Amino acid sequence: MNKLDTSVQYIKGVGPKKVNLLKKLEIETIRDLIYYFPKGYEDRRELKKITELNEGEKSSIKVVISGLPSIYRARRGLTIIKIQVKDESGMAYLVWFNQDYVTKDLKIGETIKVNGKVKKSGNIIEIHSPIYVKNIQSNDKIGRVLPVYPLTEKLKNNEMIKFMTNALNEYLYLVEESIPEYISERLKLFTIRDSLRNVHFPKNRELYIKSRSTLAFEELLTLQLGLLLMRNDYDKSKECIKFEESKEIYEFIESLPFDLTNAQKRTFKEISDDMESDKQMNRLVQGDVGSGKTILAVLSMFKACKSGYQAVMMAPTEILARQHYDSIQGLLENYNIKCELLISNISNKNKKDIIEKVKSGDIDILIGTHALIEDYVEFKNLGLAITDEQHRFGVKQRAKLSSKGRNPDILVMTATPIPRTLALIMYGDLDISIIDELPPGRKKIKTYVRNESSKDKVYEFVRKQVLEGRQAYIVCPLVEESDSLDIQSAVELYENLKNNEFRDIKVGLLHGKMKGKEKDYIMNEFKLGEIDVLVSTTVIEVGVNVPNSNIMIIENAERFGLAQLHQLRGRVGRGEYQSYCILINKSNSRVSKERMSIMEKTNDGFLISEKDLEIRGPGEFFGIRQHGIPELKIARLPGDIKILKMAQEICFEILKEDPKLELEKNKSIRNKISRIFNKEGLIIFN
Ligand code: ADP
Ligand code: MG
Repeated sequence: MNKLDTSVQYIKGVGPKKVNLLKKLEIETIRDLIYYFPKGYEDRRELKKITELNEGEKSSIKVVISGLPSIYRARRGLTIIKIQVKDESGMAYLVWFNQDYVTKDLKIGETIKVNGKVKKSGNIIEIHSPIYVKNIQSNDKIGRVLPVYPLTEKLKNNEMIKFMTNALNEYLYLVEESIPEYISERLKLFTIRDSLRNVHFPKNRELYIKSRSTLAFEELLTLQLGLLLMRNDYDKSKECIKFEESKEIYEFIESLPFDLTNAQKRTFKEISDDMESDKQMNRLVQGDVGSGKTILAVLSMFKACKSGYQAVMMAPTEILARQHYDSIQGLLENYNIKCELLISNISNKNKKDIIEKVKSGDIDILIGTHALIEDYVEFKNLGLAITDEQHRFGVKQRAKLSSKGRNPDILVMTATPIPRTLALIMYGDLDISIIDELPPGRKKIKTYVRNESSKDKVYEFVRKQVLEGRQAYIVCPLVEESDSLDIQSAVELYENLKNNEFRDIKVGLLHGKMKGKEKDYIMNEFKLGEIDVLVSTTVIEVGVNVPNSNIMIIENAERFGLAQLHQLRGRVGRGEYQSYCILINKSNSRVSKERMSIMEKTNDGFLISEKDLEIRGPGEFFGIRQHGIPELKIARLPGDIKILKMAQEICFEILKEDPKLELEKNKSIRNKISRIFNKEGLIIFN
């Protein structure tokens, strides 16, 4: 084993206590530490003159001690020490609190370098709680750029700097040069080792930038290659299913209560072509909320079943799985295709029965939640695996679902649109179909942003609509009250509305902590119109379809991502009535207002996600971690999009020549991929 993969305790200066603190930062091995990057830098290169100091700035000066220390006991437990210092420009005082030792350490006439925060009052200049060095030749603490690390309580930045210095001195030479030589030479990259040293302790800006780019490239290349290898259809030897053309499907399409939109037709053609080819289908269907993705899943499953295979469809919530089941089963009944629903929340007997029938092939289509990927679910011959609302699942779950068949075709659906380059990272190399057209006759949802003070009016409006026969959703961000965050909880709001504003209309409550049965019951009541106003958390976010509901009110809308608001808004506007979305914004910040106004202006999901990205940055939006993809430590998206594109080009080039990454010259990157992906529990190479 490489010494890099052993405990950080072997680094000089790291004792058992520090080991535990580092663990909190997910630093366990020496390698983890070396790949733990600064969040910023403090430039301590410049030495100022005393007269150049500015109030409030952290600055460095070189001074001579010109006075004896004066010590004040300000009160019990607080001692203030002041020492006068000078340089050729002027005079200042160094001030410490409860640090008596400095009085012994510093002698009059001594020259020291000092760094600390400047306080000016009148003509008096003070530097508070400064650090100092007596060896003025040394640039270790003052005189260079110092990294600033993300820390945890009881761990200080200067300790991290010391650990890092020791780690680099002792172990950097062990870090593998993972980028294949023929590539790093061609791109004129730095070595990984030099880059690591430069990123932790940059000598200057140019070196830093090039080093960071090298490491970002290493990271993105590893990630992209790994993801493409997971998909692994560069492997031509893989045997995949070739589905038959089916005449019956046209009959089925004819029998639907509506005509397919052109976008649906085009997408279904793309799916059919994939399914009829001998390659494995890996297709992502992107389509805005309400664009009609479900029917495409149904058609594909129909096709799979008519070729004698089973199909499976996974949805992120029980509500959604049940809704799919109810509508799909109804459609397929007459075509001799047997569907079942598998969620955690059914009786054991029922579950056992379903599992047996899936295994024996008596059930053709299985619809469900995460329960589907449990080990005990086995298929007789699974040919098609579908995940709905893919953005709610991780790569691992998708892989697990498809591993239930022998190279089944894969279809994933999402309402969250993302640009192609990023899709390559998020979804490996999926082919993408886009449904860019809504079914005809939809009325545009009217969106309004309101603040807390107009809530009475908003509720009055809801009440009027309800009396006309409509229904409304009111969505809150959290289930229970949290004092610190001042978030209106669903439970509290429900109680409040039920007893006051909506005393005489039927109010229901739905949240994630309720039992599955209870949730289904409430949702069903809402569908049947037995509930007029449904107060809920975001459990209703995905996919739910109740055409009679035409109002969506979102409390604390500023706390949601725009993509999520758009999803929520998509719950209304599904019927013949004019629909409304009212966003209650409690924040006065400019960014919040800007974000909310985007929602008012457009209903276009693509545009919304782009704007969200612009304003918020990618961190939350892309939630890479949530996708179960190894986390990016140094690369930033979309900031590093150019580097990503470069990495993708190189990636395709490598795989074209060496589809399974078996050549000696690619061994270094193969090892890196194994290491990074295995850590996430993703096995790529057997
Ligand atoms: P999403 O893309 O958000 O999953 P759904 O598949 O739930 O959308 O479809 C939303 C609604 O539109 C459903 O009630 C569905 O029956 C209806 N629908 C789908 N396609 C069409 C169409 N071509 N014409 C009319 N209505 C359609
Ligand atoms: Mg859907």
